[in-house]
Amino acid sequence: MNYIILDLEWNQADDLKTKLESELMFEIIEVGAIKLNSEYMQIDSFHELIKPQVFNRMNQVTGELIHISMRELENCRNFCEAASDFLRWCGDDYIFCTWGNVDLTELQKNMDFYHMPGLSKKPIKYYDVQKLFSIAFEDKKKRRALQFAVEFLNIKEEVAFHRADADAFYTAKVFKKVAAADGVLKNYSFDTYRLPKNKAEEINAVFEDYAKYISREFINKLAAMNDKDVVSTKCFLCGAKTRKKVPWFSNNGRNYYSVMVCPRHGNIKGKIRMKKSVNDKIYVVKTMKQVNMDTVNDIIMKRNQLREGRRERRHRT
Ligand SMILES: [Zn+2]
Repeated sequence: MNYIILDLEWNQADDLKTKLESELMFEIIEVGAIKLNSEYMQIDSFHELIKPQVFNRMNQVTGELIHISMRELENCRNFCEAASDFLRWCGDDYIFCTWGNVDLTELQKNMDFYHMPGLSKKPIKYYDVQKLFSIAFEDKKKRRALQFAVEFLNIKEEVAFHRADADAFYTAKVFKKVAAADGVLKNYSFDTYRLPKNKAEEINAVFEDYAKYISREFINKLAAMNDKDVVSTKCFLCGAKTRKKVPWFSNNGRNYYSVMVCPRHGNIKGKIRMKKSVNDKIYVVKTMKQVNMDTVNDIIMKRNQLREGRRERRHRT
């Protein structure tokens, strides 16, 4: 399997009104990619500028950041031609790698805008190199700029950042270092621009100490919380029935938490995030994670504070 390290640059309207009215918020104007083989050796590269068809002026901030003028794009090919060539270039057996979690969504949005055949009918498994960098070298939760990672890893800075070809080049360099770190490539991600269409397509991915579940769409939160797989508290490691220490509760209506105890694997924290789909429906991302007593106590405290708050409000009225 090859690795396609992809980076995109896009343009947008300067003013909020045009931005919100436009069917396409981010118009891709540059594609940069590096192809690595299964040994992480570079075997090819792809780079193309794209002639815009939605926005005919360069957003001021974007223009200053990436140093591309509209005049440079005038004689380029349009998105459909460039994207079709790019996808042919990718081949058949590959996995995408991007810095952060937005490029694959924007690529698919642009493809849909031009009614191109979709990249996938389901969520796309890929590597978020920004996330992998933090897992390998820093705190798991941090999100660093590409330049930070390049400097952190003493990678030689040969070209300026913020152009698609340059950023793909640097991301590939970071990816190689990340891939050499033990076990890090187990932590793949899913792009959820396309959601599971039915129960059978739902994602249940088990990692070393946590699991991720991505649901199909529901009409609303209530429907989601009525689904037995969404609220299931079975142990993600052994499938055993757990004891509910803290049943699902929510402090803001968007995130739900629970704590369960598996006889073999101890305390497990459950977190449900309600997410809005592109169709204005709801889908669920649930994570289950083995945790220590400190985390359990934090959740119990959060739940108790919520109860106190409710009690106080009742007394005041
Ligand atoms: Zn278990």
